Amino acid sequence: MGMRVVSVLLPWLMATTPFATAAPGAPELWERYSWVVLAVVVAGLLQAALIVALLLERRRRLGAQRLNLSVLDSLPGAVAILDRDGAVLRASAPSAQREGLGALSTQRLVVPGRAYLQALQKLALSGELESTGVATLLDQVLSGRVEEGMVEFRGPRADTWFELRARRLELPGGGAVVTVVDATPRRRAELEARRARDERAHMERVAAVGELGASIAHELNQPLSAIRTNAETALRLLQRTPADLTLLREVLEDIVADDQRAGEIIRRTRALLKKDQGPFTSHDFNELVRQVAQLVGNDAQLRGATLTLQLADTPLPVNGDGVQLQQVVLNLIMNALDAVSPCPPGERQVWVRTQRTDGRVELAVEDTGVGLSPEAQKRLFEPFFTTKATGLGMGLSISRSILEVHQGRLQAEPRTDRGTRFRCSLPAA
Ligand code: ADP
Repeated sequence: MGMRVVSVLLPWLMATTPFATAAPGAPELWERYSWVVLAVVVAGLLQAALIVALLLERRRRLGAQRLNLSVLDSLPGAVAILDRDGAVLRASAPSAQREGLGALSTQRLVVPGRAYLQALQKLALSGELESTGVATLLDQVLSGRVEEGMVEFRGPRADTWFELRARRLELPGGGAVVTVVDATPRRRAELEARRARDERAHMERVAAVGELGASIAHELNQPLSAIRTNAETALRLLQRTPADLTLLREVLEDIVADDQRAGEIIRRTRALLKKDQGPFTSHDFNELVRQVAQLVGNDAQLRGATLTLQLADTPLPVNGDGVQLQQVVLNLIMNALDAVSPCPPGERQVWVRTQRTDGRVELAVEDTGVGLSPEAQKRLFEPFFTTKATGLGMGLSISRSILEVHQGRLQAEPRTDRGTRFRCSLPAA
């Protein structure tokens, strides 16, 4: 079949190509080498097609590469793609990197071909940043133990922070994508928010202690009058001859105990007025609640309310800022006492309960008070929402943010018969 096509095509080719006018003897050439000539022509055409295809493919690949690089450069911060050994395969443009590692000089930019971790370790050695967390994370991601992770580290200049994210590449050869962004603005905003919140919390505590002024004075009066009475007794005992030294010792011991009680009241009040935040330490939540209850006990009595404590039998260890946690308890109890004030005497009941449930410590403050109006139910935790003539409306919003910092929760619900139940919970230490 192929032979037949050639024997038909060849005379036609001879007639239509320059060979038709070639010198005598040319037809013999065609006849003798027609196969070779045809094979050469076909091979040439195939080669040309292959070259065009390769050129087109190269153009496509260069386009894709340019697109990849411009995507890399447009990402915020310094981005680097690492192979499985941590060597940099690609890195974003220096201008893009400077946005991420703004504090690091140009020589230290991430450059393809270099080992990523070593670059950071050099900086760590010169004391410019701490890289222990970074090294651990990169090691875990490159070895495939974790898919992705994030570490924050301090920058070379004071008050600068960086955030490094590493994500494993889903490729047979492994590797990772690493991004470093300047976290300083976020950290500063967080610190600023925290400072503002602590300041508000402090103002609220000062207001609460101010409100408790009469009650504190009353509570202080008790040990002070006891001290005076005991001191007078001691003087009288001294006038007797012989002086009853055993009795005298007992009276003096009472004086010391009362003095300690008075000192404790002052210490607790001063702690609430303190502005600086204490470090997070371990506390027995029962003990924190008991101290607050002692502080407001007199206030409750003066208002004709009954404050009943039902605390868990075992200690309830929690981690946090004791003063701030006490502020939450104080606020809930004071609100409950306010809520029962309009009730007839004998119906002003407030219960404070603690218990441990599922790894959390729970506090419930219940009252038989006026209850929550539909509007109050919706807006209770909004700053400046108050229904009280002299209220600031900050107590519950501050309490909630204090609990958030302690990974806690605060919610309110109406009691079945009357009044309100506030419940807060935080993780047990
Ligand atoms: P403030 O006590 O200064 O008003 P809070 O944020 O502590 O600020 O409380 C906001 C509002 O929530 C109160 O004004 C009151 O209307 C309502 N509220 C809080 N606790 C109770 C409660 N136990 N019973 C009824 N209403 C309450």
